[in-house]
Amino acid sequence: MARLEHKVAVITGAASGIGLAATRLFAGEGARVLAVDMEADALREAVAPLGSRVLPFIADVTQETQIEQAMATAAEVFSGIDVVIANAGIFGTQAPIEKASVEGFNRVMTVNVTGVVITIKHAVPHLTERGGGSIIIMSSVGALIGNPEAVAYTASKHALTGVMKVAARELAPNDIRVNTVNPGLVDTPMMRTVEAEICPEDPLQGRARLRDATFLKRFVQPEEVAELMLFLASDEARNCTGGMYMIDGGMQYGGGQDVN
Ligand code: NAD
Repeated sequence: MARLEHKVAVITGAASGIGLAATRLFAGEGARVLAVDMEADALREAVAPLGSRVLPFIADVTQETQIEQAMATAAEVFSGIDVVIANAGIFGTQAPIEKASVEGFNRVMTVNVTGVVITIKHAVPHLTERGGGSIIIMSSVGALIGNPEAVAYTASKHALTGVMKVAARELAPNDIRVNTVNPGLVDTPMMRTVEAEICPEDPLQGRARLRDATFLKRFVQPEEVAELMLFLASDEARNCTGGMYMIDGGMQYGGGQDVN
């Protein structure tokens, strides 16, 4: 039997990278998925091949009324919500603190932290009504280490650890599990931007430097992150809550932060 048969998932940031990989995997494992993203054309194009199990929903995670509507739509169309993946996020511009723009800092915090809080806030009533569920917060190895020239991103992912800990305690009585997934360097469009910023004259060299800074000398693939999410979404993870699930090729013990 498929591992997510009869389950309904809402996945944010579903048009690209890890969110898209999770949408594909979850639909393949029998879930019905509300795929949320603010990039309308990219989202429609990405989910079109996935058939009627996946419903695209255009919304910005920083806009509370849009996310409230997204959750209501999933609950109405699919008769409830079991799993929420708060995945939408941005990296921001690389710069040392003394050159970082406050506007840019605030934007990263708003998308990566406030967006996750809004997503959880409006999912909880539906998960509770269902009798429980799983919330998976997309964090990063950046929640554990200090990444030079990425103060906003690093601060935002550290903040998500706090969000996860609070939500895990508050929601345990409702049998809602809350965990973070903490990848290292994942091979997605976001990583292409980082590579180009690290080495603008030769992004391929930037890519090689990043890859070689990992223990295992390879990028994590988005499908591999989706597999970890699948475990946390499934009943096999029924006792997993309040956890940080690393999928970083050992970067938490050193590596990627030395690339700049
Ligand atoms: P990506 O850029 O490929 O995809 C991100 C998606 O989020 C895009 O489709 C984008 O349109 C959407 N999005 C951005 N802001 C949004 C908003 N306000 N509302 C709705 N949708 C929005 O990136 P990715 O690498 O797949 O990253 C996904 C998540 O994984 C992010 O939270 C990121 O921080 C995290 N992550 C990525 C890596 C990596 O190396 N790529 C590592 C660790 C963690």
